[in-house]
Order: sequence, then structure tokens, then C-alpha cells
Amino acid sequence: ESVSVDDLLADPVEKIQSVGLTPHPSIPHPRDVFEPARSNSFGIDLDDSRTLDDVADAVQAFEMPPAPAEASADQVADMITRAEAAAPAWAQAPVGVRAEALEKLADRMQDDMLPLVSLCVHEARKTYDDAVAEVREAIDFCRYYARRACQDFAPQDLPSVTGETNRLTLEGRGVFGCIAPWNFPLAIFTGQAVAAVVAGNAVIAKPAPQTPRIAARAVALAHACGIPADILQLAPGGAETGAALTGDPRVMGIAFTGSTRTAKAIQRTLAEDATRPIVPLIAETGGLNAMIVDSTALPEQVVQDVVTSAFLSAGQRCSALRLLLLQEDIYDRTITMLKGAMDTLIVGDPADPATDIGPVIDGDAWQRLETYRQSMKSRWVHHVAAPEAGNFIPPTLIRLDSPDDLEQEWFGPILHVATWKAGTLARTVEGVNARGYGLTMGLHSRIADVSEDVARWARVGNLYVNRSMTGAVVGSQPFGGERLSGTGPKAGGPHYLPMFAVERTVTVDT
Ligand code: GLU
Repeated sequence: ESVSVDDLLADPVEKIQSVGLTPHPSIPHPRDVFEPARSNSFGIDLDDSRTLDDVADAVQAFEMPPAPAEASADQVADMITRAEAAAPAWAQAPVGVRAEALEKLADRMQDDMLPLVSLCVHEARKTYDDAVAEVREAIDFCRYYARRACQDFAPQDLPSVTGETNRLTLEGRGVFGCIAPWNFPLAIFTGQAVAAVVAGNAVIAKPAPQTPRIAARAVALAHACGIPADILQLAPGGAETGAALTGDPRVMGIAFTGSTRTAKAIQRTLAEDATRPIVPLIAETGGLNAMIVDSTALPEQVVQDVVTSAFLSAGQRCSALRLLLLQEDIYDRTITMLKGAMDTLIVGDPADPATDIGPVIDGDAWQRLETYRQSMKSRWVHHVAAPEAGNFIPPTLIRLDSPDDLEQEWFGPILHVATWKAGTLARTVEGVNARGYGLTMGLHSRIADVSEDVARWARVGNLYVNRSMTGAVVGSQPFGGERLSGTGPKAGGPHYLPMFAVERTVTVDT
């Protein structure tokens, strides 16, 4: 069922129909002109009066505040004591009051866009595009969860069979621990914390050790917007701080985004003490995310989406593309175009508005990624120039004989490519499933039947067809995986908040 790319480019819709298949409704005719990879043109409606220059000026003039002090195990225990005392009144407050604080926080973050963007650029070394997207996502989380909470937490009267009344309510669990990653130090940090808060919990929020300043700013804004100080407390620190939080039996649930290994360690900790309540872990972890491309795909679109998904954000998204699976007959053509697109990427200082790709988060990450990259040198297909000093990993394309040769997730701008033969699509998807992860998958095909098949077969939380596979939008693309990639429910989706609550049914006989 493969049609040659040249044939399709002539007139794809008719070609697809001529072989008895259905064209995908959203696929346009091919573009004649190849659009190079996105650069920081800043198509952002930050505020009409602001330009990229204004943002760049603000970022460059910004002075980094000192990092907040790490919380010791004793301090975490004290925080939990205060949180436990404050939680019941907050849980009893009308959901509208809690939601209003989140709406205010969203407004406040919008007003504070420039300092927040500056912090993301300086502390997390994000590009302007990524930093602005980060702040907008944090704002989206506040607004989305505020509105969802008003729906989800309204008491429900349920049918009665024998004349009794039945009322179902959701109520905060008590003290909730939130543990955020450095790759979305504002968006995920804020998303976890405000979800737990609006559900009526008292929250101890631990940012990643690499990004405590952004978190401290978010918490200060939240307090200024009506979230009480004991209801949202910041616990900066590393593994020891995290262990003090997850190991305390008064903590009634954990939201965690980070590695699969740490999620499993937390799961063990929560289960260890036989007398501790059984509490939920909401985990969002890693992936071995693949994009499958068949011979009907639009090559220009594939290349652009591959660059966005694998290399932008320096590949430091858990949604990022790690494994490109090209149908054999389009390998040469796609790789030729992909090399051209990679050559347009500018790797450099994120505070420079021309930069497409900044450094990786720190020296440890650099060391791990660079050691691996060098070990694969004989398999490099292409790589991009990058500055020598400053934790830059040159975006690199690596050829594998088999998809199974990719042993683990490499959290950086390193893309692996392998091929599959016509007639083996089902087996190819099954091979990806069999790796155990289930976060994102991409598919490029102009045949609707193929996308329907892959949607049925793929065991992933987020499948993206004919587009890039990063940048899930809150409320539109609820995000999160399954199996080794996480527990669900999905962040930014309709089932997230109830997981932060207990459900109670009151039945009164009349
Ligand atoms: N939500 C992000 C995206 O869709 C990824 C989140 C993560 O990396 O943890 O790209």
C-alpha cells in the first residue's frame, strides 16, 4: 500500500484516492517551499505593546535574586505540621474562594510576564520562545484548574431508589506533596501546586534543585493572591528534602514529575510503612518517544516537525522525539532535507534573541549526554555546530540498525533514526509499545486509515498525527503517559483534580 513520494507530491489527494485509500482530512496539498526550522521571530501576544526587543532588554537588565535556602528534613517536618493544622479550614472554604485565588494568580503572572520570563531564561537557561511558552502554560494551568474545580467540586445529588437522599462531595485529602522538575520550573511547578491547592489541600511544593528561584517567585505571587502561607509552602532542596516529604506519614498524596526511577522509589516509600494510609502517587515520568513516518507523508512537514520535536528546547521535554522511524523508501530524501533544516539551527546563549537552542541544564547533564554522544560517533549522520564552553550539546542525528538499539531515554537534543519496511507498520508500532514506555508518539501519514490503525495500536498517552509532538496545550491536549511513563490522570485534563481529593457519599434516610 505504499505510493511513491514523487507520485504523491504531484497531486496527493487524487493519488491517495486512486489507490483506494482515504486522504486524511487535515492534509493540505504539498507546499512548494520548504520552511526552515522556526527561529525566535516571537509571534507572541504577550501584550500588544511589547516587542522582542522589550523582552530582550528586560531579560538582559534582570538581576537574579539569591536562591532560597534549602529546607532540611526538620524544616520539612515543621512545614507539614503547619500544613496539617491549616488544611481543614481550607478544605471547608467554598471552592469559589479557592478558585478565585488561582484566577488572581493567573492575572498576576500575566502582569509579571517579563520578570518571570527573565527568571526562566537566566535560571533554567530557556530560550525566549520557551520562556514565554512556560509562563503562558503556568497561567493556563491556573485558569483551567480554577474553572474545572468549580465544576468538579460542586456537590452532586444522586438518584435515590428507596426515598433516601444521596449526596456526593469531593474534599481535599489533607497535606499534599508536589515535586516538580527543572525542565518546566514554572509551568509544571505551578500546575501541580495549584491543582492540589484548589482541590482543598495544604501543599508542600519542592522545586528541582536547579530551579528554586522561579519556584520561590511563583509561591510569593500565590501568597499575594490570597493563597495562605501555610496552604502553600516552598521546600527547596534535593533528594534529602524530597525524602523527608515523601517519607512523612502525614502526607496524604504526592504529585511527581521526573524520572521513572524516582517515581518507583517514591512508590516504594509510600508503601513501606504498614500503618500509613494508602495514598495516591500521581507520576509523570519519561518516555522513549517515537515518530513513525510512512511514504505518503509530506516531507517538508515531517522535517519541520522532527526539528521542533527533537531539538528545540534542547530536547529537554519528556514529550520530545527520541526515535524517528522512517519507512525505508523515504529515508534518503528525508535525511537530506533534515540535514538542511538542522543546519539552520542556531545553538547559543538563550539570552540572545537569535538563539534557537540553548544549553542543557547543567554540567552533569552535559557530561552524561556528551559521553553518550561521543560513544556513538561512528553512527552520527549529522550534527550542528555549537559553542564549546557552557554545557551545549550539538544537536545530533544518530543512525541505528534497529530501534531496539536505543537503550534508554537521553534527555537532550539527540535524535536516533531507524527504518521500517512497507507492510510492517503494525509490527513497528508493537515494537515501540514493547519498550514499556507510553508517553508520546508521532505519526506522519496522509492516509486516514493509517492514522486510525496507529491510534488503535499505540499504547501512549499522547499521539500526535501530522504535527509536532511537543507543547501540549492545557485543556486541549491533556498531557501524561501510561505504564513506565506515569500513572495518570493527565495534567491539564478533566480527570486531574479529583485525584487530589477524597470522595464522600452521604446518604440520609427520610
Ligand atoms: N507538556 C510538555 C509538552 O507537551 C512536556 C512536559 C514535560 O516535559 O514534563 O511538551
